[in-house]
Amino acid sequence: MLSGFLVIYQAWILASILNSVIFKNASLDEIKNELLILIVVFIFKAILTLLSNTFAHKFASNIKIKLRDNLLRHLQKVGPIYPNKKHSGSDVNTLIDAVESIEKYYTLYMPSVVFVAVIPIAILIVAFPIDWISSLILLVTAPVIVFFMILIGKGAQKLNQKQWRQLSRLSSHFIDALQGLPTLKIFNGAKKEALIIKRLANEYKDRTMSVLKVAFLSSLLLEFFSSVGIAMVAVTIGFRLMYGQMEFIDGMFLLLIAPEFYMYIRNMGSSYHARMEGIGAAEQILELVEKKSLNNFDSTNKTKLEIGDTLEIEFRDVKFSYDKNQEALKGINLKIKPNQMTVFIGKSGSGKSTIANLLLGFITPTSGKILINGKSLSEFSLEEWRQKVAWMPQFAHLFKGTIKENIKLAKQDASEEELKEASKFANCDEFISRLPNGYDTLIGEKGSGLSGGQRQRVALARAFLKEVPLLVLDEPTASLDKKSEEFIEAGIEKLKQSRTIVAIAHRLHTIKMAEQVVIINDGKILDSGSHSELMKSNEFYKELIKRYYEKFTI
Ligand code: ADP
Ligand code: MG
Repeated sequence: MLSGFLVIYQAWILASILNSVIFKNASLDEIKNELLILIVVFIFKAILTLLSNTFAHKFASNIKIKLRDNLLRHLQKVGPIYPNKKHSGSDVNTLIDAVESIEKYYTLYMPSVVFVAVIPIAILIVAFPIDWISSLILLVTAPVIVFFMILIGKGAQKLNQKQWRQLSRLSSHFIDALQGLPTLKIFNGAKKEALIIKRLANEYKDRTMSVLKVAFLSSLLLEFFSSVGIAMVAVTIGFRLMYGQMEFIDGMFLLLIAPEFYMYIRNMGSSYHARMEGIGAAEQILELVEKKSLNNFDSTNKTKLEIGDTLEIEFRDVKFSYDKNQEALKGINLKIKPNQMTVFIGKSGSGKSTIANLLLGFITPTSGKILINGKSLSEFSLEEWRQKVAWMPQFAHLFKGTIKENIKLAKQDASEEELKEASKFANCDEFISRLPNGYDTLIGEKGSGLSGGQRQRVALARAFLKEVPLLVLDEPTASLDKKSEEFIEAGIEKLKQSRTIVAIAHRLHTIKMAEQVVIINDGKILDSGSHSELMKSNEFYKELIKRYYEKFTI
């Protein structure tokens, strides 16, 4: 605002200097003071511009940091499981590019709006007493410019949002194709995929061009109207000066101030695309923010889990839906006893993973309760609960780093002995010791450099090292050879003495190890009991074992 008022003041001084020099034949000495003031005003204005830019960028970057922070927190809360999983490519796109585009909204558009709200009005207030005709021209032409700006802006906004959606589609498709490249290559799909990406990229290019077209057209219109406005002011002033109806100093002042008047309006017009881009990006960000969390653990929960060494789990009429129309679990009632192994079996899509996800705290029941030693799981904080659970998925994730670091993820302060013990348990000590660098051997992303079986055993050592009462396994031996499988089974047998083990089984071997086998079918428990009991009493089980499980045993 201050720099805006300085603009008016500067125009007045400049007009007055010109007036003195041209019409009063003033010497340099006589205008010395005014020149000095002019220079001070110049410098002061430059400093103000610098300050306002610096602050705008600083605030914008604070906003961006805060926004990213909030988004990441939200993603963390939502966890890895949410309804109809959209591709992570577009999440990354939102976090990086969309948040970046918000910046211009704050550094360009917002300041220009403040300028327009203040400076042109101040100029009009100063100009009216001096000359009402020029002021009237300014007053009438300004709304015309604003009107056209809004008209064009509305159309461009839609184009811009379409452009964003296109970009997010492009990036998720691209990541998808990259991740599946080996598969595409083998099935000769790479060429076709390249064509699809080419088409998407072309569509994106077209969208970008149409947005740019509108942007250029609008700035052309803005230039045109403000030029017309300035010309009209100049002509009316020129005639009146010629006929001596106006003082030179007044006319000069108005001529100097008119372009400034339009400049602020024009600036807002040209930064209007920053607004559209920001809104398009915000739509993207909102989509991420509105991603519904399927778990409602309260981070303020402070109830301590006093469970000692044994952990008993009870499902009481637990129902769960990923979305409204479809129930994945339709009322599970079950007791999982400590120091035992309970396995879940059932066809694909029956709800086994959903039960595991509930136990891991990724999701919470839509209705019903999960009781841990008699207390509802939802009373605890997620953090508290996660300290009691170890997890071993079917394809465990190893991170880039040393083997030791990967195992110690479960327990940062584990001693060398504990590390070795856990590794022996998982039958990976032998092969690790044979590596040139032993436990300090570096492995790549996703555990590259190790075979599938080795990776799985390292992950198992990690799960063992975390001395917790509950171990959730998703068929831990599925990718192991016969010998390792036996070792691990012996390990699990030993672990059973002190832990509650819950597993999703894909192999008859694992099923036979369990004390309790639970058959899940269509989100419900069909039956439960030991393998031998069920073989005797349940026809469905016999059929299931024959059709889905026997073929996996070698
Ligand atoms: P299983 O592990 O036994 O193969 P799941 O527990 O993964 O079965 O799935 C149970 C049901 O829930 C299925 O009908 C599946 O389509 C649905 N489902 C699983 N994950 C999601 C998800 N993220 N969004 C929507 N529906 C899901
Ligand atoms: Mg599953």
